[in-house]
Amino acid sequence: MAEMTGVNIRLAVMSEKSDPPIYIRPEIRAVPAYRQGAVPTTPGFKLSSNENPFPPQPAVVKAVAEAPLSRYAAPAMPALRAAIGAQFGFDDDTSQARVHLGAGSVSILFQLVQAVAGPGDEVVFAWPSFEAYPLLGIASGATSVRVPLTDTAEHDLEAMSAAVTGTTRAVLLCSPNNPTGPIITRDAFREFMASIPSDVLVVLDEAYREFVTDPDAVRGEDEIHRYENLAVLRTFSKAYGLAALRIGYGIGHPAIWEAARVTGIPLSISPQAERAALAALEPETREAILSEVIALADRRDALAADLRSIGYSVPHAQGNYVWLDLGERASALGERFAAEGILVRPFPDLGVRISVGEPESIPEVLRIATDFQAQDGR
Ligand SMILES: *Cc1c(COP(=O)(O)O)cnc(C)c1O
Repeated sequence: MAEMTGVNIRLAVMSEKSDPPIYIRPEIRAVPAYRQGAVPTTPGFKLSSNENPFPPQPAVVKAVAEAPLSRYAAPAMPALRAAIGAQFGFDDDTSQARVHLGAGSVSILFQLVQAVAGPGDEVVFAWPSFEAYPLLGIASGATSVRVPLTDTAEHDLEAMSAAVTGTTRAVLLCSPNNPTGPIITRDAFREFMASIPSDVLVVLDEAYREFVTDPDAVRGEDEIHRYENLAVLRTFSKAYGLAALRIGYGIGHPAIWEAARVTGIPLSISPQAERAALAALEPETREAILSEVIALADRRDALAADLRSIGYSVPHAQGNYVWLDLGERASALGERFAAEGILVRPFPDLGVRISVGEPESIPEVLRIATDFQAQDGR
């Protein structure tokens, strides 16, 4: 049995898709699976998945260590939902209905799209944007509609609005956009919402909200009280540095979350994740985390400015990453970084996304980027 598994794994690695011994839906076979950032090499830096370079807060580590391994998390997690809801101005009761927890906000994205979009239905999103978006509708049979970004790497909200038809069931907005960096402005967001039928779900994915310093950016806290068809998504993975624990949340109308619970995988959130999130939201710990976030935003701004000064085109960077708009040179720069032990995320023929990492990584990134520009620049 063990040998068989070994053979199968080797086959799976050799060819993108192996011959299945069982029936698999053709629409599933046709699609490549989500690809994560590469594995780290030592020594070197992993700047490929927008993770938080700071060590975890001691209070969070303690909470995780004390959480039981042999138990599922208690259902509903009222204390965590109340703590999250309070940040959106909700009292306890409202929080219980309007805050939804998931094993990462990616899992909430899957729940939502599967709940609203079936065969023949459309899901509209900008492109390039979060690499998981094209996968969300595959299992339910929905169709992805990708709307190109503007030439400043922002959402083209007019074109997205025009792409909404009678069969559109969801629109996904990502602010700041991963991988390119720019935010959606509050004014543009409101204009967009006014143009969208009120029974179409709009998801505002704010995975990097905490890093935003642009005062004109849309903020889920302000908008959630205005629209019943809006779901705001946040995560503990990025600013809060809990990517490994898999916990994120959504804010929105109670009926949206009743539907999401139907399509969600039960028992996915661990007690470790629940306790860690609660500990992270304790005022003192949260303040310490948010001061790290400020340091990262400053580091990002300095990195973006330095990269521009050596000739790179870097769009408005508002997450914990910068985007180098490189077109066909993207893969070459990605390989150059990899050869030096630094993992970044190249998007072939588009650009390279570099996460803002440890302070020591910054001079290395600039050195390699400068060399590349000197040798391969124009
Ligand atoms: C990282 C990321 C997420 C979600 O991460 P989780 O770890 O699943 O919470 C969601 N959206 C975007 C745009 C991201 O970059």
